[in-house]
Amino acid sequence: MRTPLCVGNWKMQGTIAEGRALATAIRDGLKRPRGVDVVICPPFTALAAVNEVLSGSPLRLGAQNCHWEAAGAHTGEISLPMLVEVGCRYVLAGHSERRREMCETDDQINRKVQAALVHGVTPILCVGETADERRQGLTFTTIEGQLRAGLAGLTPDAIARIVLAYEPVWAIGTGINATPAQAAEVHGYLRGLLSELSSKDAAGAIRILYGGSVKAENADALAAEPEIDGVLVGGASLNPGGFIAIAKKTARAGATGKGE
Ligand code: PEP
Repeated sequence: MRTPLCVGNWKMQGTIAEGRALATAIRDGLKRPRGVDVVICPPFTALAAVNEVLSGSPLRLGAQNCHWEAAGAHTGEISLPMLVEVGCRYVLAGHSERRREMCETDDQINRKVQAALVHGVTPILCVGETADERRQGLTFTTIEGQLRAGLAGLTPDAIARIVLAYEPVWAIGTGINATPAQAAEVHGYLRGLLSELSSKDAAGAIRILYGGSVKAENADALAAEPEIDGVLVGGASLNPGGFIAIAKKTARAGATGKGE
């Protein structure tokens, strides 16, 4: 069955020294995480330092963004070979903050997903509706559009290698998380679409994470939903104790809920 995945997204926060200290505390608190994979996504400037800290541990390194080209005249961008060189195994694609603030399009996100797979990096494709879209009954239309566009042109085998994250925009950084039932409903819908785009078996193996105001207090209930295969954690991943607790709860609840 699917091993739950717990991803920490530090966003644009922390010096290199702070990143090293935070990663060290998380690593030391999760020496042998059982039944959960853990990924940390620091800012670009801290990737090398955090990679050193995580080296030899079961924790993996991820980046928050990438460019789809391997190299070239793209001022200010970071390529996948550069991320691989610094130890990244995962990369976020289509986070709502980038869709909104950097005007990232579905087409660009699709190129990032494709490029990540070409370079052996697992893309974590983020989809999610705004509060207005939910109010207007457009939740499923929105996420379906983002999913289909994000995976356009990918073979079923390639789709099987992604991680998907449902992140309702209204829940990110607001302290208001989707209820486990709300998230599970969307996850079930997304898995049905994945099945259509790849195969039932492949869709059954793809991890669908929930993200949006996850904290130690709500992690148990979210992870207990069989359709929720882990969490993408923003603010709470900056607190080592909180993030370690979330990872452990994700594992425990996942193991029970998914019959592992
Ligand atoms: C995120 O950054 O993807 C996120 C879910 O943030 P937060 O946990 O702070 O809501």
